[in-house]
Amino acid sequence: MKILVINCGSSSLKFQLIDALTEQVEAKGLCERIGIEGSRLVYTPGDGRKQIIETPMPDHKEAVRLVLNALTDKEHGVLNSLADIGASGHRIVHGGEKFSDATLITDEVLEAIRACNDLAPLHNPANLTGIEACRSLMPETPMAAVFDTAFHQTMPEEAYLYGIPYEYYEKYKLRRYGFHGTSHAYVSKRAAAVLNRSYEDLKIITCHLGNGASVAAVKKGVCVDTSMGLTPLEGLIMGTRSGDIDPAVIEFLAQKENKTLEQVLEILNKESGVLGLSGRLSSDFRDLEDGYLEGKKEAVRAVDAFVYRVAKYIGAYAAAMNGVDAICFTAGLGENSAMIRRKVCGYLGYLGVAIREDLNEVRGQEIVISEKGAKPAVLVIPTNEELAIARETFRLVRKQD
Ligand code: AMP
Repeated sequence: MKILVINCGSSSLKFQLIDALTEQVEAKGLCERIGIEGSRLVYTPGDGRKQIIETPMPDHKEAVRLVLNALTDKEHGVLNSLADIGASGHRIVHGGEKFSDATLITDEVLEAIRACNDLAPLHNPANLTGIEACRSLMPETPMAAVFDTAFHQTMPEEAYLYGIPYEYYEKYKLRRYGFHGTSHAYVSKRAAAVLNRSYEDLKIITCHLGNGASVAAVKKGVCVDTSMGLTPLEGLIMGTRSGDIDPAVIEFLAQKENKTLEQVLEILNKESGVLGLSGRLSSDFRDLEDGYLEGKKEAVRAVDAFVYRVAKYIGAYAAAMNGVDAICFTAGLGENSAMIRRKVCGYLGYLGVAIREDLNEVRGQEIVISEKGAKPAVLVIPTNEELAIARETFRLVRKQD
């Protein structure tokens, strides 16, 4: 069965067509600038011959239509007809407390996802456009929703509650939810497989370090804590997001800089993190690492603050789980940056962490980089959220048959 995995942003749509049995990617691509002048589809079939189709895409429905056309195109397509798509799997950022697992999409499920829009006003409405487009263009094809928040729904109350009046949780479900759950679940399961250990026996800390970044504590196969909160702004210092701050900073900045609440939040989301700390040098760690090696103080400041916060969370989660068997690095930075891994691990000698320099330099593969027999094991596990979504979708569709 072929699964079409769709990840919609407000003006973009990423897709992969994955064979559920072989788990091969048969085609993938990206629609950019949807609803904006200059929209284009970048389409790469399995043979790697990339095509760029520049054409107006007024909305996500048109974008999905173009993707389906590309997939069934006589020359460059990989499908004979749309009937070959067995199901579509959709990434949904926020499932609130309602969804602790992926689910097949029905009218009731759609309503429940819409009810979570308040919790993720930038993401959920965009995610829903992909579902609506697929539903109108492939009405008979089953669809699944896979939530970024679902894996974290096992967090205990003491981890997910904020220290604010409880009535706000009761009234608004105002609490910590966490994100990147599909990635944390995939990576922690892979870590157990690589270590040849039972998932249920392990205490694992997963560090998803990309432009957005979060850490999760996974004990006996369930998530017990994670660094993001009600929104993806909490936790680590990220590319452009501040991560944890004293909430009083918001009022202070609003007054001093004469800004509205929205403007301050825009600063915390888009102008902070390593971009802000480096005096706007860059939000991209490749630039920051170059700057670091050249001794630019702005880059040193940003990288050091980023690394310190990651190490602090790992320490906190080792305490929360009363130990740790494996620490995993993933996502753009976690998978590729030997420097960041080395620096984070440099803080963790007290836990027993010892990594091998030669293994830490290896890229793009699942690998244990700690010394043989050292505990905790340290691993690099490339994440694959699309494959995880395809697997979940296949599982749900098969269960229904
Ligand atoms: P992601 O959001 O997972 O795509 O990760 C993006 C981040 O990973 C950016 O900050 C990139 O600079 C960083 N990144 C990607 N490749 C490398 C690399 N080879 N070395 C250092 N950072 C990298």
